[in-house]
Amino acid sequence: MPTPARAAAAFFDVVIVGAGAAGLFCAAQAGQRGLKVLVIDHSERVAEKIRISGGGRCNFTNRDLDPRAPQRHFVGDNPHFCRSALARYTPQHFIALVERHGIAWHEKHKGQLFCDGPSQQIIDMLLAECADGSVERWQPCAVRSVAFSASSPDGAGAGSYQIHSDRGSVVARQLVIATGGLSIPQLGASDFGYRVAKQFGLRVVEPRPALVPLTFGGDAWTPYAGLAGLALPVEIATGSKKTRMQFVEDLLFTHRGLSGPAVLQISSYWQPGTPLAIDFAPGVDVGAALAAAKRDSRKRIANELAALVPSRLADAWVGEDPALQRPINEAADKALAGLAERIAHWEITPDGTEGYRKAEVTAGGVDTRELSSQTMEATRQPGLHFIGEVVDVTGWLGGYNFQWAWASAHACAQALAGDAS
Ligand SMILES: Cc1cc2nc3c(=O)[nH]c(=O)nc-3n(C[C@H](O)[C@H](O)[C@H](O)COP(=O)(O)OP(=O)(O)OC[C@H]3O[C@@H](n4cnc5c(N)ncnc54)[C@H](O)[C@@H]3O)c2cc1C
Repeated sequence: MPTPARAAAAFFDVVIVGAGAAGLFCAAQAGQRGLKVLVIDHSERVAEKIRISGGGRCNFTNRDLDPRAPQRHFVGDNPHFCRSALARYTPQHFIALVERHGIAWHEKHKGQLFCDGPSQQIIDMLLAECADGSVERWQPCAVRSVAFSASSPDGAGAGSYQIHSDRGSVVARQLVIATGGLSIPQLGASDFGYRVAKQFGLRVVEPRPALVPLTFGGDAWTPYAGLAGLALPVEIATGSKKTRMQFVEDLLFTHRGLSGPAVLQISSYWQPGTPLAIDFAPGVDVGAALAAAKRDSRKRIANELAALVPSRLADAWVGEDPALQRPINEAADKALAGLAERIAHWEITPDGTEGYRKAEVTAGGVDTRELSSQTMEATRQPGLHFIGEVVDVTGWLGGYNFQWAWASAHACAQALAGDAS
């Protein structure tokens, strides 16, 4: 239960700012290890992002995560940074916790684990774990400022943090920043974590929206705007040679551009000004199929194409070119080859993203070179820790971001309690 305002500065072993996935999990783990923990959050409700995650069913982890190869599922200046934390707290650990709380779950595609019931079950579980650790929580409560002093009230000599908040001031030996990224500002996202990092001279990798729909402004998108609502499996790629990334997932046309899992995934790798390459019929040799149809069929080209891709897409593609609006047996080989090439290798350059309003996560954040990968503590600022999305570690769609929140919180809590391995 939230605590009323206090007149004098109270002392805590740990103050955690941010009662989201990472903050609550870290608080519970630290509290259960015997530390006196306070969590402060400026929002009315805890862990709003958990509540809306996974379409309301919280995709809480991913079984395919391989801590030995974090670069496979995590983006950032140094994806190897998360190896130690991910190895020490694995999806199996979180599954065991979920099961201990009697939460039923199921696996969807590509290792993604979801609750059978509402996401609120995960929030309730975290709050129960916090209660087990006697964690105190002030919420809603804004943090006005944070300061460090080299002396500590308990005389331990390691320094302390003064946290000035709407409910009064507190002093703590350790400060954990778990305020997440900038995505979904309407749910309380703020740049607090980056500001604290900069206050203490730590570098921040420029934040940017990730796992976000891409937009295509102006006339270039007009022919495709009518396809809004159409979803289909595609292969989507960006970059070239060493930087090339590709996904085979569903793509969704929207009024302003492209969305769906394929586009959200590629958005984390896409660089502004560069094109995307999309294959609308992955695994199908469209050129050979159209050439064969030309020999055997008198149907219109759009009808033949509709056997390979959704008919709305076939109509849109064929409708753009008068040379294609005829029976397939009357089509020029070159026109059919050109159509096949466009279906298999559509190159288009987004003009931007839908921004933080629609982004599931924020890429960039506190530079991992500033933090210990064992403890999440700032190497140049003793007692200051960063966990979860505020750090420059961004997971793929599919439960990887929550697993990073749990694992970084766990690594931090171990260190706070002095039992880091
Ligand atoms: C729509 C949506 C769906 C998602 N679905 C999934 C999914 O299914 N699986 C998955 O792995 N990931 C998913 N994510 C991503 C995932 O929610 C985040 O990566 C994760 O919540 C990050 O945890 P965190 O604790 O670092 O930050 P958050 O969960 O964002 O928590 C940050 C907390 O800090 C508080 N805060 C912020 N600023 C301040 C301040 N100035 N003072 C005090 N408190 C502050 C906020 O109120 C919030 O409670 C989804 C995200 C969105 C937006």
